[in-house]
Amino acid sequence: MLFDRYTTFPILAKRLGKDPLVYFDNAATTQKPRAVIDAITYYYSHQHANIHRGLYALAEGAAKIVEGVRSQTAHLLQAAPEEIVFTAGTTASLNLVATAYGEDHLQPGDEVLISVLEHHSNYLPWQRICEKKGATLRIAPITESGNLDKVAFKRLLGPRTKIVALTYLSNLLGTVTPLTELIAAAHSYGAITVVDAAQAIAHYPINVKELGCDLLTFSAHKAYGPTGLGILYGKRAILMRMTPYQVGGGMVSDIGTNPITYLPPPYFLEAGTLHLAGIAGWGAAISFINKIGYKALQNEEQKLLHYATKGLATIPGLKIIGNPQQRVGIIPFIYPPYHALDIALY
Ligand code: PMP
Repeated sequence: MLFDRYTTFPILAKRLGKDPLVYFDNAATTQKPRAVIDAITYYYSHQHANIHRGLYALAEGAAKIVEGVRSQTAHLLQAAPEEIVFTAGTTASLNLVATAYGEDHLQPGDEVLISVLEHHSNYLPWQRICEKKGATLRIAPITESGNLDKVAFKRLLGPRTKIVALTYLSNLLGTVTPLTELIAAAHSYGAITVVDAAQAIAHYPINVKELGCDLLTFSAHKAYGPTGLGILYGKRAILMRMTPYQVGGGMVSDIGTNPITYLPPPYFLEAGTLHLAGIAGWGAAISFINKIGYKALQNEEQKLLHYATKGLATIPGLKIIGNPQQRVGIIPFIYPPYHALDIALY
């Protein structure tokens, strides 16, 4: 046990009748450690004001907190602070990229390549922008064992491929994508690469420089942070090629009748008031992750994965789906003749 579950995660002290709460739905969202809840309460109790709009001490203090957490996030990903954009979540980030980049850089006949492992959030924004721009959405398959089919993926790449968007870790199969290799292949055709790290962030230390991706996103709530906050990493040169899909407060350097002059990245993509308390809470979540360390988290998860896999294997007739080279946190299975919903309810 990495920590005392009851004191670290207040919700785990809850009882359902006589039973203690057991929570295994971390792929959907994680519960919140006390440190994160406390940081949000403390922020609203002592530190709250709007940022980059006021010259008084409280406003400057709140701005310092936000910029501090931006630097902390950059450090977590091995990026630079100006490469970190705060959004409302993974879905918001991917819609932002599809619109703010795709609108100006996709032409009829261009292609966007994703995979069958993608969550709706990394599928529908691309499908929609392709429909709008007359581009084609290509979808790489997986193999029988549940790995992304690298051969088929590379065959689908070509000079028309402008954007490649892939999940780091599948929320369906727990499959880990061999990103470094696929990103390099995509770059060899001049495509930009987008990584959906919504699941990965809770399991893997992410080094955007090593991955080589152009853009990467995740939601804070899947890694012990608050809901309503997302992080979008983007190489400066790529962010500079985007046209903000929404305009408003805090993102221009001048206002008037002249052409709009946007602030430099990341600010021109952060129109309006950010989820300031959420950002304060996310800072505490990063500290929580760093204190435990990804290595310890992974060891604990692998123990659980082996325990559950071994247990499920003893049930006659139960079939685990796929056998990927690397699997994290999720074991999909079928158990004929029972319906999946009946098993979930049970
Ligand atoms: N991508 C993946 C792989 C996910 O698992 C999820 C959430 N289930 C999302 C994207 C969407 O995240 P959010 O709902 O926080 O925007």
